[in-house]
Order: sequence, then C-alpha cells, then structure tokens
Amino acid sequence: MSNQEISNDEKLVQAVQKKYNEMLEEGVDPYEWAYAWRSEINRGGFKAVDFLMREIVDTGKCVGCAACVTICPTDVFDYKDENPVDTRNDACVFCELCADVCPVLRPLDKDLQTLLDFKKPVKDEGFGPYNYAVIARAKDKEFLEAGQDGGVTSALLVHALEKGSINGVVTGDVLPENPQVGIQKLATTAEEIKNCSGSRYTYSPNTMALVEAMRQDVKPLAVVGVPCQIDGVRQQQFSSIRLEVAKWYQKNVALTIGLFCSESFTHEHISYIAKELDVEPQDIVNVNVKGKVIVELRDGREIIMKLKEFHPFARPACLYCLDYSAEHADIGVGGIGLSGWTFVAIRTEAGHKFWQEAVDADLFEILPEESEPKAKELLIRLSNIKRNKPLPALMPTYQERVELGNTNPKTFYKNYNKPTDGGDEGK
Ligand SMILES: Cc1cc2nc3c(=O)[nH]c(=O)nc-3n(C[C@H](O)[C@H](O)[C@H](O)COP(=O)(O)OP(=O)(O)OC[C@H]3O[C@@H](n4cnc5c(N)ncnc54)[C@H](O)[C@@H]3O)c2cc1C
Ligand code: SF4
Ligand code: SF4
Repeated sequence: MSNQEISNDEKLVQAVQKKYNEMLEEGVDPYEWAYAWRSEINRGGFKAVDFLMREIVDTGKCVGCAACVTICPTDVFDYKDENPVDTRNDACVFCELCADVCPVLRPLDKDLQTLLDFKKPVKDEGFGPYNYAVIARAKDKEFLEAGQDGGVTSALLVHALEKGSINGVVTGDVLPENPQVGIQKLATTAEEIKNCSGSRYTYSPNTMALVEAMRQDVKPLAVVGVPCQIDGVRQQQFSSIRLEVAKWYQKNVALTIGLFCSESFTHEHISYIAKELDVEPQDIVNVNVKGKVIVELRDGREIIMKLKEFHPFARPACLYCLDYSAEHADIGVGGIGLSGWTFVAIRTEAGHKFWQEAVDADLFEILPEESEPKAKELLIRLSNIKRNKPLPALMPTYQERVELGNTNPKTFYKNYNKPTDGGDEGK
C-alpha cells in the first residue's frame, strides 16, 4: 500500500469521526448516528477498524463484548485484557462490520424489536419486552447444587442438547488454576455444559467461542452471556451490512440466554478475597452476591463478606452499559435476591419453544412470578438504574473520569439515578 493510499484512508476515517462527533454534539437522533459510517459504504467503505479503535477502545469505552472480533471476516483482531487489539490492521477489507456491530457506538437499531420475534402479547414493565416470567429451579440435584441460583440455565441447555434442538453452547468455563477467572467455551457435550455451571464475576469473554463454532459449523447453537454479549450477538445477527458471517450467526444461533448483570468485577476482587481469607485463589470455589457476598471455599467453608467491600472492584468499563436484564435475549435469567431459585423471563418465540420443551420434560419446580413480588420490584429498580444513564457515546471517556476522580461505574451517575446505592444486591 502506498503512502498516498494510506493518507486517503486516514482522511476518510477522520471524515467519519468528524461526522459522527458532529452528530453527537448537534443532538441528532441517536438512531441516525450509524449513517456516519453507513453512508461511506457506497463509496467503497472506509477503514472502520481505525474509527472503532479510536472512538471506543482508546477512550476506554469498550465493554469487551467481542462482537467486532467475531464478526470480522478477515481476522483483523486479537482479544486481550477484555478489549480487541487490531493486530492485523492491514487485513481490513473496509466492510465496516466491526463498527456496525459495536453496541457502544450507538443504540441498537429500532427494527431489532421486530426482528427478534418477541412473543405476543409483549409486556414491558421496566425490564425489557417479555411475555411471561416464572421462578424456577432444577429438580435434578446435580444442576441445583452446581448452579449459581436454581441451575435452570444449565439444566435447560443440557436438555436441549440431548434432544438435538442444539448441538453446541457458547458459554464460559474457568481457568483450572483460578476458578474465578472466566474463559470462553464451546461446549458440545452434557458434561461440558455441566462443568461450566455457576457464575464468575470477572468478565468472561464467552462470545469469543462463536468463531470456533462457526469454523467447526456447530449448529444450531445456544449462547449464554451477560447483556453486553447478548447485544453484541444481536448486532452481529441483524447488522444492516450483510456478509456471510452475519448470516451464519442469524441462521444458526437458535437460543440466547442472557444473565442479568449490574456489573462484573475486576480481577483484583479475587486477590482481595484470597488475602482477606488467607487462602489461595484456586481455593475459592464460588462467589455469589445476595445483598452480601457469599464465598464458598474448597475446604467446605462458606464465608460471608460485606458487599460494600467489593464496590471498589466494579469494572470501570461497565459504566458504558445500559442493560441490566438482557433485554434482547430470548430468555433472561437472574438470581435477583432469591436463594436457590432462578428468575426466568421468557421474551421471544424461540425462548418460549426451548423453555416449553424443558417444562414438558418435567425438569423444573416452578412458582408463579407473583410468589416473589420483591424479586420483580428489585429487577425493575436495578434495570432502571442502568436504563436511566446517558448513551455511552455521550458519556465521558475513561481518561476524563480519571481526571474527574471517579472511575467507579456504581457511583459515577448517582445523581442521574436517585436514589441509588449502586444496585448490586441481587446477582
Ligand atoms: C458477571 C455476572 C453478573 C451477574 N449479575 C447479576 C445481577 O446483578 N443480578 C442477578 O439477578 N443475576 C446476576 N447474574 C446472574 C446469576 O449469577 C446467574 O447466572 C443466573 O441467575 C442463572 O443462574 P442458574 O443457576 O440458572 O445458572 P447456571 O446453571 O449456574 O448457569 C450459569 C451460566 O452462566 C455462565 N457464566 C458464568 N460466569 C459467566 C460470566 N462471567 N459471563 C458470562 N457467562 C457466565 C456459565 O458458563 C453457565 O452457562 C450475574 C451473572 C454474572 C456472570
Ligand atoms: S464494545 Fe464490543 S464491539 Fe465495541 S469495541 Fe468493544 S468488543 Fe468491540
Ligand atoms: S454490566 Fe454486565 S453486561 Fe454490562 S458491560 Fe458490564 S459485564 Fe457487560
């Protein structure tokens, strides 16, 4: 590539950046922001990777969903420390997909609501569109004991796999030497799904396993992820810039299960627990948050720690996330203050089909959502805390937050969300 071409590429990137930033400043309807880059497609595209890196990654606004990484048709990105790295920048083919799928650059397209096939009648009481919700737990003790809450997620997935409704699950496993560090996993056996049960509160890059699934053509596929990951998957499935890779995800991701999430924790929370309890990280078998932090140790002890102690470990990038309840998943699940039960919100026709298959197989004990009114109240309250923030593109960068002296996502917008205590009592 000649210097002349490089400078032309750079000019186009700067032109798109300028147009995008003018739109933000002028208060243009956020649903129009994507035209800052989509209008370039007709002219042969621009180097979207440079635009994405500058606007989202360099500013510390990247939530780590990996959508840009897994959509890229020429493998431009690596993924390191919860962020994309444009290691093979020169391989960019100017398709703009990485910018188009980023859930932080802009709000998800309005027509997504139609494309997702929400089950009718659709209700939205403040935690996203859904048709019905229940409180459930697995009847099989193996799932109930290994699961973070009611073991519903893993039990449903194993059943779907054994019935042949799916052939693989993109989910999260753990590092053997540090079971609180999540890693991506393409699970294709019941055993593998079971081994992935439970929650890790560090950021687990589950969706990185999408590429492996596509390469091995494992389909139909289920995806388990926190809301930012579900949004990233939806952006990839329904991007208005259509390429084969987007079509593969649209056709073959049959089910998404979204985990409710107020924020994840930085890795430092593990060393903190280890130090406070005088144990090694590998001895921390499970961490659960229920208005307090319950730490389960390998020697069988269960230690209660104060939730407040963990506020400094809230992951700074989670400020840029507005979705608590996985509003675009087929099924949303969370513990929401319940002990040993999972709150399950059925949102789409696909979610209903998978749920009903599992219910027909008598997998769960089920209570009506009305039996735990406090859970729904909490769900609505915590969802509102995140919904009521400004759009991430309009928020200060991470560097600006450092200068302002507050990088904590729990307290930064406390005046937006009065009253708030940060809202993490029911993970
Ligand atoms: C970071 C994080 C924050 C959460 N915050 C809340 C909250 O604020 N409120 C709330 O009600 N619920 C929260 N949850 C969800 C809750 O912890 C349970 O995952 C959910 O209730 C399902 O329980 P289960 O027993 O049905 O799932 P299980 O049968 O135990 O299955 C859990 C699934 O989650 C996957 N998983 C584990 N860790 C991660 C991770 N870090 N990222 C992505 N996938 C993962 C596992 O691989 C498994 O497939 C959070 C979960 C995570 C991972
Ligand atoms: S938020 Fe997701 S799509 Fe956007 S830059 Fe980060 S990893 Fe890529
Ligand atoms: S709050 Fe949860 S869903 Fe949102 S960016 Fe953080 S980890 Fe992702």
